Amino acid sequence: MSRTKPILPASTNPRDFVIATLGSHSALQILKGAQDEGMRSLVICKKGSEKPYESFGVADEILSVDDWTEWDEKIEEELIRRNAIIIPHGSFIAYIGHDRVKEMQVMYYGTKEILQWESDRRMERQWLEKAGLKLPRVFERPEDIEKPVIVKFHGAGGGFGYFIAKTPEQFYEVKNRKYPKENDYAIQEYIVGVPLYAHYFYSPLTKELELMSFDKRYESNADSIGRIKAEDQLAANIHTSYTIVGNIPLVVRESLLPQFFEMGERVVQVSKDLCGKGLFGPFCLECIVTRKLEIFVFEISARIVAGTNPFIEGSPYTALKYKEPMSTGRRIARDIKQAITQGKLEQVLG
Ligand code: ATP
Repeated sequence: MSRTKPILPASTNPRDFVIATLGSHSALQILKGAQDEGMRSLVICKKGSEKPYESFGVADEILSVDDWTEWDEKIEEELIRRNAIIIPHGSFIAYIGHDRVKEMQVMYYGTKEILQWESDRRMERQWLEKAGLKLPRVFERPEDIEKPVIVKFHGAGGGFGYFIAKTPEQFYEVKNRKYPKENDYAIQEYIVGVPLYAHYFYSPLTKELELMSFDKRYESNADSIGRIKAEDQLAANIHTSYTIVGNIPLVVRESLLPQFFEMGERVVQVSKDLCGKGLFGPFCLECIVTRKLEIFVFEISARIVAGTNPFIEGSPYTALKYKEPMSTGRRIARDIKQAITQGKLEQVLG
């Protein structure tokens, strides 16, 4: 049953609000960003995971829950009473789930409808194709495989179970042997190149797209297989997995920057035709760049990604644009602060 939305607070004083998020993913950065912008911060932790938020002193207040299933009207009421504005991140969406996010009545930074476009592979592809991005080819049927492909199971956390195949026979051999019951998968052309994650921010207030930073991921065991000889890999029967362990900062060759700006701008532009306010706030294009410098996009994240975490003190790009250290978390807080002081809070809420 949907509840009535609380009336937005009329205050234009940012101190009357609190920036809140779940204790995981990019929460340290988000909370510190709030403090750096002179706003209050609150973190909701699963019991036992409070330590980093206490130790680093980034949270003005910590709420603890036994489990995320406990996210209920009572917690929401607490948050609403404090004028909390929730900042979604990857773990937030994963723990709370799309349906509960949609139903949430507490103030929420970002467009909720865009989550559907990001999480449904077909809709995501439609969006990115419309934006004119280069995407890996999709093979509808295993029989069509005629070059190396990556097979992705839906909801495979950390790319676990993804495998590579070169022919239909190879596909069926692995699929039937290892995943006989899995039928929800996508077959994508395997792009040979380097993975690169581009972090953007689009403010609905300034209407400007900003390139915040880039990272690459440190994935287990994909990033360590090369430490042993190919014949030993075969002998040990090692299967590639992509469990993310950390993020490594990166800058790209400068001549690629105009293309990255253009890609981000088109994604935002097209999103405005897809749903209400379109995409705003932080987002990430997950790319692979080939040796011919073609940029393929294999996924979009329509929210802050953990790859922005190395840049709490700003990135080489935000250092060019801002006089102060500007993380993506702080940029979010600034957007919210400006919206509050200009009486435009509604514009940044979903
Ligand atoms: P996310 O947390 O972003 O949802 P995931 O678990 O869905 O991650 P992906 O990011 O889709 O996994 O991919 C996992 C790994 O597979 C990454 O290292 C990525 O570089 C690689 N990869 C994904 N698609 C392709 C592709 N089409 N060609 C080559 N490599 C790919």
